[in-house]
Amino acid sequence: MENKKVNFSEWYNEIIDVSGLSDKRYPVKGMNVWMPYGLKAMQFIDNLTRKYVDSMDFQEVSFPVLITRGQLMVEFEHVKGFENELFWITKGGSEKLEEDMAMRPTSEAAMYPMFSLWVRSHADLPLKIYQIVNVYRYETKHTRSFIRIREIHFFEAHTAHATYDDAEKQMEEYLVIWKKLTEMLCLPYMINQRPDWDKFPGAKYTLAFDTVMPSGRALQIGTIHQYGTNFSKNYNITYALDDGSHEFVSQTTFGMSERLLAAIISIHGDDTGLIFPPDIAPIQIIIVPIPSKKVDVNAYSTEIMDRIRKLDFRVKMDDRDAYTPGFKYNDWEMRGVPLRIEVGAREVEKSQVTVSVRTEKEKKTMKMDEFLENIGKIMSSIKDTLAERAAETMKNMTVTAEKLDDIRGMERIARLFWCGREECSRKIEEQTEMACLGINQDSNKKGKCIVCGKDGSTGIFARTY
Ligand SMILES: [Zn+2]
Repeated sequence: MENKKVNFSEWYNEIIDVSGLSDKRYPVKGMNVWMPYGLKAMQFIDNLTRKYVDSMDFQEVSFPVLITRGQLMVEFEHVKGFENELFWITKGGSEKLEEDMAMRPTSEAAMYPMFSLWVRSHADLPLKIYQIVNVYRYETKHTRSFIRIREIHFFEAHTAHATYDDAEKQMEEYLVIWKKLTEMLCLPYMINQRPDWDKFPGAKYTLAFDTVMPSGRALQIGTIHQYGTNFSKNYNITYALDDGSHEFVSQTTFGMSERLLAAIISIHGDDTGLIFPPDIAPIQIIIVPIPSKKVDVNAYSTEIMDRIRKLDFRVKMDDRDAYTPGFKYNDWEMRGVPLRIEVGAREVEKSQVTVSVRTEKEKKTMKMDEFLENIGKIMSSIKDTLAERAAETMKNMTVTAEKLDDIRGMERIARLFWCGREECSRKIEEQTEMACLGINQDSNKKGKCIVCGKDGSTGIFARTY
């Protein structure tokens, strides 16, 4: 396996390939095949997402993939933002379609004409829906599994509210959902308000969740957007007031994708392979029997497996004849299974198990009952370790710059004071080859802009994916 710190990019491609997450040999560029192991992990991420948004009264929907040209052209900024990324369908069979249709790059233009039919009065608000579907963007840059692709596994939440304040409260609720989700995934992040010239097309403002990859580059793994009435005015989404007049709704959205999986692979993995946070591990516990002539290790292993299953953990026994235990240990370590149990003659005779935790070097032998009682605790400690390591890495990858020379040519997250003006941002970008991620929302420190000396806040600059 490649060395992650030295050759991150090669390490990343190799681990996705050998661990069976995705197959990029499919003949359409940027459209990869989800393999069973990768798809399972993504489904567990989706299920966590569903759990949290459902608990906040969101409802799941499924909209068609095609959007008519007419529907799309309604919001000018939005269309302009996506015009170079659209896949168009112009024919049905051999006939030219009456109206061209685009494959959704995101679903505002699909959903909001329907919102205008659904929202009539105060009683219909707030409207809170989401879907988890594929969206399509004609990506022209170099594609990369789970990071830069043309068919994106996309979560999108859309809301409509009576007032701008209500929509602002929704933005705060998104932060709560995001915090819960990333805690389960053990992912550290920054919240950065994107500069106006880089916000989502049609949004009033955009808050992005950025994390740091082992290469020192930033990866945007989620965004939330305040639309205000920008879309509702164009799509005519209104509700009636008591006096008979109509008011435009205020709207928000929340988007994320399989980039979450990319971050998990990259941030938690090591030179041995993947490390899955327990809550999304397709297999949480692997049992490896060590063949013995004296006792029936398979029967004992099966008994442990059944008892673990009753405790609702995802467990599998690896009884493949063709491989040695040593090969199996390496194989499951590479696939990132959080816990391994080894069962040999000694374990059977003493009602024990030998436990190997993916985040630790030492193995531990304990009584079977003691192990069963403590699985939950062991899983929590794995989560704590992953979260601590990831936070530490993010800290080490971040530099505070007082002058541009401090960060020139670096692959790090740079924190510096910036006045917020595009002119100064351009200068920083040109001299450091970093991109502006906006104003950091986790810090309210003030200082003088690194370029012009005027009052500024903490700006974040980094190379990005
Ligand atoms: Zn400035």
